[in-house]
Amino acid sequence: MKGDPNKLGFSTRAVHAGQPPDPTTGAVSVPIYQTSTYAMDELGKHKGFEYARVQNPTRTALEENVASLESGHSGHAFASGMAAISAILTLVESGDHVVASRNVYGGTYRLFTQILERYNLTFSWVDTTSLDNIEAAMTERTRLLFLETPTNPMMEVSDIAGAARIGKAHGALTVVDNTFMSPYFQRPLELGADIVVHSATKFLNGHSDSLGGVLVAAREKEAEWFAFVQKSAGAVLGPFDSFLVLRGIKTLAVRMERHEVTGRAVAAHLDGHDKVARVLYPGLADHPGHQLHQSQATGFGALISFDLGSHESAKTFLDALEVMSLAESLGGVETLISQPATMTHASVPPEQRAELGISDGLVRVSVGVEDADDLIADLDQALARI
Ligand SMILES: *Cc1c(COP(=O)(O)O)cnc(C)c1O
Repeated sequence: MKGDPNKLGFSTRAVHAGQPPDPTTGAVSVPIYQTSTYAMDELGKHKGFEYARVQNPTRTALEENVASLESGHSGHAFASGMAAISAILTLVESGDHVVASRNVYGGTYRLFTQILERYNLTFSWVDTTSLDNIEAAMTERTRLLFLETPTNPMMEVSDIAGAARIGKAHGALTVVDNTFMSPYFQRPLELGADIVVHSATKFLNGHSDSLGGVLVAAREKEAEWFAFVQKSAGAVLGPFDSFLVLRGIKTLAVRMERHEVTGRAVAAHLDGHDKVARVLYPGLADHPGHQLHQSQATGFGALISFDLGSHESAKTFLDALEVMSLAESLGGVETLISQPATMTHASVPPEQRAELGISDGLVRVSVGVEDADDLIADLDQALARI
């Protein structure tokens, strides 16, 4: 397309933002600039590109694209979601305090407790579904408020706008891990958050074929810091992975629509099944966060957790599935299913898992874009083995 796509709709921006036709050839697909360095025109004069850790045109296209979709100032792409989250935590200094949702991604919990606590940082693990709890946890040294909503795998919903107001009042930046919703359904910066982060490995890529992370800052101040962290710490996303994520995002809107329709059908089916003790999905009317989620997002997504009562039942069920793949990760076109207690959340201590409700019978499914009838038939035949 010609002109600036940034004024246009979400699906148009998903396809075009950050990706004008290649200036030298007109290629409509951003080339993979597989180069480590760039020749200078003359000493002291370069074309805006010096060295691939600092700039790469394929990565820049992805960063501009995600910044546009999240309504932010600028995007920064990293080698993984965890590398992006690590970069955000460089905003805090020794002695600072962070308030985090008690039920974040297991890897985030591990990073904060097993690595960052060694640097004289303190973390409060809070049930952020209540704004009163957030308010009560804030201290003079709180610099970051780190939220995930809905959480993984308990699907707890937190009020992004309310949390961001509390953060601002205490001089803390509000960060939202928006991996589960993608910018198609939820845009935290529009609700007042300061930084949004994604594991691009999940819905942004959408095809389970690359690892990556992207963060988007609302303002120039933090954006400049993150560019400096990319250059200085170096965990940047490579050109080929940047290309794969860009390619994935072109269909983000259509994939999310389909994930949503199929996700709702699967959740409704599980909800009525006599082998299933309970279903956690914000799209169900009896979910405690149903109303709040609807007020801040335009869809419920494709992540569903459900309890089969025991480890034995979960194992029998998971081993019997034929269409769904037993695998970590989520957000791909293929349906992935896992047991959080032994897989994604194995690094969370058992007592804490029990407190959070992550039982051994809990199963989490990331509904793909296959035919709903095939997925439901697969669930039914595996549930029948229990
Ligand atoms: C997967 C995931 C991460 C970590 O991302 P990686 O790309 O695996 O490093 C962080 N947050 C959430 C919610 C995730 O699902």
